Amino acid sequence: METAEIVGVGSELIRGETLDTNTAEVALSLRPYALGVWRTLRVADDVERLAQTARELWPKARLLVFLGGLGPTPDDVTTEAVARGLGLELEEDPAMLAEIARRFEQMGRRMTERNRKQARKPAGARWLPNERGTAPGWWLREGGRDLVVLPGPPAEWKPIWEGLLPRLGLPESGAVRRVVKTFGLGESQIMEQIADLWDRGVTSGIYAHPDGVYLSAEGEEKSVGSWIEEVSRRLQDYVWGYDDDTLPGLLHAWLWERGETVATMESLTGGLLAGLLTGVPGSSRSFLGGMVSYSMGAKASFGVPAGILSAHGAVSAETAAAMAAAARQALGTTYGIATTGVAGPDSLEGHPAGTVYVGVSGPQGSQARLYRFPPLGREAVRQRSAYAALAYFWRLRP
Ligand code: AMP
Ligand code: MG
Repeated sequence: METAEIVGVGSELIRGETLDTNTAEVALSLRPYALGVWRTLRVADDVERLAQTARELWPKARLLVFLGGLGPTPDDVTTEAVARGLGLELEEDPAMLAEIARRFEQMGRRMTERNRKQARKPAGARWLPNERGTAPGWWLREGGRDLVVLPGPPAEWKPIWEGLLPRLGLPESGAVRRVVKTFGLGESQIMEQIADLWDRGVTSGIYAHPDGVYLSAEGEEKSVGSWIEEVSRRLQDYVWGYDDDTLPGLLHAWLWERGETVATMESLTGGLLAGLLTGVPGSSRSFLGGMVSYSMGAKASFGVPAGILSAHGAVSAETAAAMAAAARQALGTTYGIATTGVAGPDSLEGHPAGTVYVGVSGPQGSQARLYRFPPLGREAVRQRSAYAALAYFWRLRP
C-alpha cells in the first residue's frame, strides 16, 4: 500500500508545551483512503533536521504533509527547510505579497519585512490561501504525488485541508468505519462481554473518552453493520450514541422534538455541565439556565430542602435528586439535571475522591445514581461527572 507521512513542525511540540493534535487529526481525515499511515512525526524548528526529514520521506510517500512553522518569526523555517531538503528554488510571489499587505492593513497593523518570507514558495507549487491567518500554505504535485505544507494553528489549517483533500485524488479504500458510544462500563468490563466479537469480520477498536468508551468497527459495510448491531445488543442500556453523536447534541435534539426544556444545578462540576449543554448551537431553545451550588448554603438558597441536606449530607443520592428537582423548580423547566460529589484529590466527609452522584428530575419524579470514578485527578473526575449526568439523563429519558 502507498503511504502518507505526516509531520508536525515545532520545537514546542517536542518539549510538550503544545500537545500535537494536528498529526492525529490529519491521520484521522485519511481514514477513508487506501493509504498506509504507520507513523506520524514531530520535528523541531530546525532547518537542517527538517530538510533531512523532507529528503528522507518525500521519495517514498504518496502524500507528505507538514503542519506548522509558516509564521513570520525567525523560528518558523518550514518552507525554507522543505525547499532545501528537496532541492527546490524559492520564489517570491508579488500577488501574495500584496495580499498579505492588504490583510495587515485591514487589521490596522503595519506589515514588516519579516512577513515577506510568507510570500515565498517553491517554483511550481500552488498557494493554499489561508482565510483565517496571514500564513498561506502551499501544495506541490509531482509525478502523481502530493506535498502539502500547512500552517500550525488548527483553526487555520483545517478549512484549507478540508478543501484540498478531495482534490488530491487519493485512492479510496471503500471501507466504512462506524462507532458505538457507551457510558458507564470500563474497557475491561466491555471486553468481557464482546471478546468473541473482537476482529471478527471487521477491524475492531476500543477507546476510552471523557464521555465514555467508544467501540469502532472498520471494514466492509455489511459486516460493519452487523458487528455494530450485535455490540449494541450486548451493551444495550450503556449505549448512548453512534458515529458523530455527542451527548449534549442528542439531548438537545430530543428536547427540541418534544418542545421541552432543561435546567442544571452543579456542585463538583462547577459549571462544566452547563458548559457542555451550551456548546450546542441553538441550545438556548432548550437550556434555560443553571446554578453552581458549591456550598451547603448555596444549595439551600437555590431550593434544596435543608432537611435533606442535614440528613444526608452534600454527597448523597437524596441531595443529587433534590438538586435536580430544585433546578427544575427554580427555572420552570421540564427537567433538571444535577451533580454532586468529590472531585479530589482528597476525600471529603468520608467519601473517597471520585464518589459522584448525578440526579435527574422530571414530570415522573426525581432519581439519582452513584458513580465511583477511579482517582484520575480532579479535572478528569469533574469532566466525567458532567458527562455522567448527561448519560444518566439520556438513559432515563421517557
Ligand atoms: P506555527 O505555525 O508553527 O507558528 O504554529 C502556531 C500555533 O499553532 C502554535 O503555537 C500552536 O498553538 C498551534 N500548533 C502548531 N502545531 C501544532 C500541532 N502539531 N498540534 C496542535 N497545535 C499546533
Ligand atoms: Mg512554530
